[in-house]
Amino acid sequence: MQHFGHFIDGAFTQPDGVIDSINAATGDVWCQFSRGQAQHAERAILSAQSAFDTWSAKSGAERADVLEQLADTLSQRWEELVEAEIGDNGKRITEVRGQLSGLHGWFRPAAQQARDLVPHDQGNTLAGVRSEQQYLPFGVVVAITPWNSPLMILAWKLAPALAAGNTVVVKPSEMASASTLLFADMAHQAGLPAGVLNVVTGFGHEVGEPLVRHPLTRKVTFTGSDAGGRKVAETAASNVIPTTLELGGKSPQVVFADCDLDDAVNGILSGIFLSNGQTCVAGSRLIVERSVKAELVSRLVSRAGGLKLGDPMDPQTQIAPLANEPHLKKVTAMITQAKDDGARCLLDGLETARGRSGFFVGPTLFDDVTPDMQLWRDEVFGPVLAITSFDTEDEAIALANDSNYGLAAGVWTMDDDKGARVAQAIQAGTVYINHYRSVDPMSPIGGLKLSGYGRELGPEAIKAFLQIKSVWTGTSSVPDPFPDDVEAQ
Ligand code: NAD
Repeated sequence: MQHFGHFIDGAFTQPDGVIDSINAATGDVWCQFSRGQAQHAERAILSAQSAFDTWSAKSGAERADVLEQLADTLSQRWEELVEAEIGDNGKRITEVRGQLSGLHGWFRPAAQQARDLVPHDQGNTLAGVRSEQQYLPFGVVVAITPWNSPLMILAWKLAPALAAGNTVVVKPSEMASASTLLFADMAHQAGLPAGVLNVVTGFGHEVGEPLVRHPLTRKVTFTGSDAGGRKVAETAASNVIPTTLELGGKSPQVVFADCDLDDAVNGILSGIFLSNGQTCVAGSRLIVERSVKAELVSRLVSRAGGLKLGDPMDPQTQIAPLANEPHLKKVTAMITQAKDDGARCLLDGLETARGRSGFFVGPTLFDDVTPDMQLWRDEVFGPVLAITSFDTEDEAIALANDSNYGLAAGVWTMDDDKGARVAQAIQAGTVYINHYRSVDPMSPIGGLKLSGYGRELGPEAIKAFLQIKSVWTGTSSVPDPFPDDVEAQ
C-alpha cells in the first residue's frame, strides 16, 4: 500500500505520521497520507517563498508557456489520476472521468490571462503627472481544498494563482489527498519549477492552521464548509491576509407550473443526485407550484427510486457511496432528524442502502418540509431533497431566499419575463434558468451570504491573485510647495 509523503520543493518527502485513506465502497484502507504538523507547513512555505522571486520575475507570457505545457501534459496523462481520485472520495468513475478529462481546460484560459496582463495607464485628472497601474502577485498563496472534487477545485485556484506569478502551498482534505499529490508531481514533471507548487497533507487544525497563520503567507483561498471558512478567515485576518471563501449551499430549485416538466425533472435529478449530492451547488430545496407538485414529485420519486447504487469503478453505477464514514454518519443523522421533525419521507435512502457494506445512502426525498426544520436550513451535502410548495411568485421568491446560504438556484418556467424576474430576485451567486449546474472558465462562480465571498473563474479570475500598484511619474517641473509669495498663487 502506498504511503505518501508531502510534496515539497519538487519532490516527495519521507512519509511522516499516518492518516489512513478509506475506500468508500469497501471500507478498507487503500493508501496512507502523512500527518503534517507545523514544521511541515514551515518547510512548504519556505520552499514556496524561495521559488517566488524567480517565478514572479518571469513575464506573463513565460508563465503562460509553462501553464500550457502543464495543460498539454494533463490532456495526455489525466487518466493516471482517475483511480486515485476515486480511491480518495468514492465518486463514480463516469463523473471523475468527466472532471479529469477536462482538467487541462481550466489552465489554458488562465495562461491567456497571464499573456494579456500588461501595466496600463488609465489617465488621471492632474496636470504634469502620468500614472500607471501595475499588477503584482501576492507572494505565497495557501490553497485549502475539500474532498468532494479535489482536483477540479484545485485547478480553479491554482491556474489563476500561478498565472499571476504567485507560488502556492496546497492543503488538500485529510480525507482526499492522493490525487492532489500525484497532480503536483505531474505538474513538476511538466515543467513547473520546484517550490512553485507544494502540497502538505494532514488535518486542518494541525497543518492547515499553521499554513494560514504563517507570516510569509500573503493570500488564502479556501473551499469547504462555512464552519471551516470562518476559522480560516479569522486566522488570516489576524495577519491582515485576504481570503477568498467558497463555502456551502442550500440551493433552491423553483419550479413553476408553466415549465417543461421533463426538463425540470432532469434538472432536479442532476441538481441533487449527481455526485450523490456532494456538490456545493446541490439543488437541495425543491420549491414547486402547488398545481404541478403531485405530478412532479411522483415522477421524481419514480426516477430517483430506480437509480442504481453500486461500485464507483463500474460505469453502470448511478449512485456511488458517500465519500467517508464521518460524512455517512452526518447524513444519516440528518435524515433521522428530518423524520423526527415531521417531514414526510417519500423515498428513504437509508432503507435503499440497508445491508450494503461501504458508505452508501440512496436518493432520499422528503415532502412537507417547513422552514423551521433542520433539513430546510442546514446543508446535508448528500442525496437528500427537501420539498415544499407555493401558490404565488412572491411566495416562491421568499421561500428561495429563506436561507443563510446564497450559492446557486434553479428557476423552471417557460415564461421568459418571469424567469428573468425571479432570477434577479433570488439571492444567489449563480442562478440557472431552465437548466442546472453548468460551470465554465469564462463564467465567475461564488456565493452570497454564508456561501462565502470572492469569485473564482471568469475572464478576470487572475485578478483575485493580484494587487495593484500605482506608479506616478512627473512630466513637468515640480512646483515649490511653500512659495514666499502666497498671493501670487
Ligand atoms: P471542511 O471545511 O471540513 O474542510 C475543507 C478543508 O479545510 C480541508 O482541507 C480541511 O482540512 C481544511 N480545514 C478545516 N479546518 C481548518 C482550519 N482551522 N485551518 C485550516 N484548514 C482547515 O469541508 P469539507 O467537508 O472538506 O468539504 C465539504 C464542504 O465544502 C461543503 O460545505 C461544501 O458545500 C463545500 N464546498 C464548496 C464549494 C464551492 O465552490 N462553494 C465547492 C466544493 C465544496
